[in-house]
Amino acid sequence: MVENVVIIGSGPAAHTAAIYAARANLNPVLFEGFLAGGIAAGGQLTTTTDVENFPGFPEGIGGPELTERFRAQSVRFGTRIFTETVTEIDLGKRPFRYKTDEQEGEARAVIIATGATAKRDDIPGTRDAELWQKGVSACAVCDGALPMFRGKPLFVVGGGDSAMEEATFLTKFASKVYVVHRRDELRASAIMQARAKQNSKVEMLLSSQVVAVEGGNVVEQVRVKDLKGGGEKAYPAAGLFFAIGHVPNTAFLKGQVKTDDTGYIVTVPGTTQTNVPGVFAAGDCQDKKYRQAITAAGTGCMAALEAEHFLASH
Ligand code: NAP
Repeated sequence: MVENVVIIGSGPAAHTAAIYAARANLNPVLFEGFLAGGIAAGGQLTTTTDVENFPGFPEGIGGPELTERFRAQSVRFGTRIFTETVTEIDLGKRPFRYKTDEQEGEARAVIIATGATAKRDDIPGTRDAELWQKGVSACAVCDGALPMFRGKPLFVVGGGDSAMEEATFLTKFASKVYVVHRRDELRASAIMQARAKQNSKVEMLLSSQVVAVEGGNVVEQVRVKDLKGGGEKAYPAAGLFFAIGHVPNTAFLKGQVKTDDTGYIVTVPGTTQTNVPGVFAAGDCQDKKYRQAITAAGTGCMAALEAEHFLASH
């Protein structure tokens, strides 16, 4: 059987596409992935605490609860959801062919909504078997409020808006927040820089690099190298947060859809159309600018409407 629409992803973009496609009687299939990108189905929202800027929830809602609600709404209208990762896809001709670990099939239209993953740097002490998730994290908003960080010095690596935002956020819990940036000039916007710099708990370590994170069961100290002076200093610390950008989860496409030089899918402006007719992209895999749950949901809606139109005219 050839499916009408196969949706790949599990966040707000994927489920909004599924809700619209299901309500348009397209009988969509959604592959939510099995720990795709190293995180549970639901995507980056599952690694967030309170979401306070998604309309309709004036009191705020937990990220995992919000994704459960998206999923329940997809199911309610008949979306068939598989907890499988799409490992291969052939977009060379229609119907498109796809494979997961457990099945393979064909689809007339595909909506890619695979999101993005926070980047980590390979610093000694931060790897999975070392202090990763034992004080080392790539999401201050998700983990910053943990008791282990309260009243302790913390580190943020990066010089962009995320680093400024995360440093400012962490000052709510930390005794001090050091921002380590590899150049002597921050990349962040003026307003975000000003906000961080005005905070008396934030100290910028520019032209610097974290060379090691050390500790027994948890982070205890961070070694920082001065890239200009050449010296190295160890700081007591309870945590280190990477804020060095994101990587879109598009590697599985193996170049069959046009991307920019950082891997984000290129869509026709104002639409979710990719360079392959019948393949649409929504959410963070095609958006490096806004990266919000609500913008992802908006593009998910667009993708479903465009897929519906495509199927009607082909
Ligand atoms: P970004 O702008 O790409 O900044 C990444 C930062 O990490 C850069 O300073 C970069 O250094 C540094 N970096 C990258 N790889 C590194 C490595 N391996 N080791 C050490 N440092 C490394 O990413 P972002 O801050 O996540 O922001 C992404 C987008 O979201 C931007 O458009 C931003 O404006 C937006 N955003 C907006 C807000 C807001 O307005 N509230 C909040 C967050 C994000 P270099 O500068 O040397 O390249």
